This record gives sequence, structure tokens and C-alpha cells, in this order.
Amino acid sequence: MQFRDLKAQYQHLKRDIDEGIQAVINDANFISGVQIEELEQQLAKYIGVKHCITCANGTDALNMVLMAWGIKEGDVVFVPDFTFFASGEVVSFRGATPVFVDVDENTFNIKAERLEEAIIKVLDEGIFVPKVIISVDLFGLPADYKSLRLIASKYNLRILEDGAQGFGGEIGNKRACSFGDISTTSFFPAKPLGCYGDGGAIFLNDDETAKHIKSIRAHGKGETKYDNIIIGCNSRLDTLQASILLTKLKAFVNDELTAVNMIAQKYTKSLSNYVKTPVVPEGFLSSWAQYTIQLTSELERDELKQYLNTYGIPSMIYYPKPMHQQIAFNGVKVYQSFNISEKLCKTVLSLPMHPYLLNDEIDFICGKIIDFKCR
Ligand SMILES: *Cc1c(COP(=O)(O)O)cnc(C)c1O
Repeated sequence: MQFRDLKAQYQHLKRDIDEGIQAVINDANFISGVQIEELEQQLAKYIGVKHCITCANGTDALNMVLMAWGIKEGDVVFVPDFTFFASGEVVSFRGATPVFVDVDENTFNIKAERLEEAIIKVLDEGIFVPKVIISVDLFGLPADYKSLRLIASKYNLRILEDGAQGFGGEIGNKRACSFGDISTTSFFPAKPLGCYGDGGAIFLNDDETAKHIKSIRAHGKGETKYDNIIIGCNSRLDTLQASILLTKLKAFVNDELTAVNMIAQKYTKSLSNYVKTPVVPEGFLSSWAQYTIQLTSELERDELKQYLNTYGIPSMIYYPKPMHQQIAFNGVKVYQSFNISEKLCKTVLSLPMHPYLLNDEIDFICGKIIDFKCR
């Protein structure tokens, strides 16, 4: 059994993927081929924003947005304490200060009350200037944008939606990657929409900023490639990945998003009497980058992981360490305690989740978890 079965997905989509790859090789347009623009248009339309700018990976996507906004030393960017390292890494990479914020026990996402508490402390201290909130749509579930937007307006902050895991999620009739002032995603193979290598994208409505980010993406180019007007970087998505994503986007929209939601429902129905199952608030849709349960203690979590492993069931701990405890952030000041994120790191366990998971496999996994709890 696979945790995320990319081989099964390939077998389902093989004909179209192979054709797409061959077409790129025949045309030899490995950089900036027509598939890039086609993909950017389709993605922008799907998300419901004016511009999609593809790039080399989800980390670069975040970094280029912070560059475009001029985030620098002395600026504060608020980041959830329970997320993948890159969400905070990009802040320090720009020389700014990440301020970590505790998360909600039910949704795993940044908690609005704790965010406001951190903002007030930073303002009272008066050393750093609050600029941006990086909201992460963790495990596929959009963050609480209604509350975040109120706070952002109140304190005049921008929201950068890190939708690396959130692509496909919804609140009401709006899609994830449209909730930030600018939003980003990742096409790392294991993300909800993944390619066959690294890839990422930026989503926004503002024309001027889009032009600025496109310049940053290609060495700060002006009118032509050899007219360089600002310091940028090299962060393009390559055409082979775009052709793969064109096929995968179709499958994602037509079948896969529905499939993972049905699988999540099955898991929850079978398991909710035995373990804490993930909560999807009313009006929200998750794209189930992960299906993450919570056990009662670190010991129980580790024992269950081991137990499942003996039956050939893979499981993962996302994440074993909160951001404020990462060695790379030694010396970064904290403004609050992190009771929830510290607890989650000890008690979470992510189960196999992908659109090609079979009913028999789900039953087998749930059966073993129930056996374990009833020992
Ligand atoms: C994967 C991920 C990233 C980084 O994406 P890459 O494409 O791997 O650079 C950033 N933030 C979150 C929350 C992620 O899960």
C-alpha cells in the first residue's frame, strides 16, 4: 500500500501524460513553451483570479511575493507555528522577522485570536513593523479568512495565502488560492495537484504587481530578456511540467477532488468514535492534502504508527516539530506560548490519502486502527 499512490495515478492518466511529454520533446520548447501560457490561463480561470504566474516551486512563489512587496529587515511577517518549514523560511530569507502564532486544535490552521494577540505585542514593543500574515491552508483546508481579513484590515496588513497544500479547497463558492492579497501554491509531486518534479504558482488580480513578479521571475527583465531593470531570480516552471499539469488538472477537477472527499468521509464515518478525526467547518471544502487524525498521547501515536506499519500500512507525522523549535530559527523571538502546536506535534498521524485509494484498503486501514484502539 502507498501513502500517496502516484504510480496508480500515472496508470490512469498514462496515455494523455505520455502524449503531452512527447509533444514537448518533439517541439523542443523546454522553457516557456505554449503549454505554460495555456496552463496559466486554465489555472487562473479555475481559481477565479486575473493572473496566474507559474514558477519553479512553492517556496520561490512565496519568496517572490515577499520580494515584490519589498519585505525587508525590520518587517514582521506572522506565520503559523504548525506548518511546513518553507512558510517561515522565506521570511528569514528576506531578512525580515517571522513571528510564530499558535494554531486551532480542530482545523490545524492559524488561530485568529492568537494572531491578534501577537500583533498587539509586536506593536507595543515598537521595534519591528508588522507587514504580512502568511496564512497556510494546512492539509488542504482553507484558513479562517473571514477572521483573518478583519484583522488584516484593522492593522493594515497584507495576507499572503500559502496554498501549497490548499489547492482545490473552497469556502462558499470561492476557491483556495484566491483568498490572499496574493496567493501561492506548490506542484511538488505529493501535493493535491502535483507535477513530476518541482513546480509552483502565484495567483493575484493586480496587473502592476503581476508585471513586477513576472520580471522578478526572469532576472528582473524589462522589455526584453537582456534589458535587466531590477534584481530578480530565475524561477520558471518548465514546459514538460506544464504539459503534465494540463493533464493532471483535468483529472483533478473532473474526478480526483471528489474522490478524495468521498475517501475522507469514509474514514471519518469509520473512525470518529475511536480517534479525533479532522474537522471541516460548515461551508468549507478540503482538498485533503493530508487526512490527519489525533491520538491521546505521543506514546499512543507512536505505538499506532508502529502497529499500522506491521500490517504494511504507511503513515506519516506531519509535523514532528513546531516552527519555533526548529534549530534554524534559534534566536527568533517568540511572543506567545504554543500549547496547541506543541501538542499536535506529539499526537498527529496522517493516514494514506490519494484519489486512487480502494474501498478495501480504506476498510483495512480503519479496521486496524479500531483493533488497535480496542486492544
Ligand atoms: C510544500 C510546501 C511549501 C513549499 O513548496 P515547494 O514546492 O516544496 O517549494 C510551502 N508551504 C507549505 C505549507 C508546503 O506544504
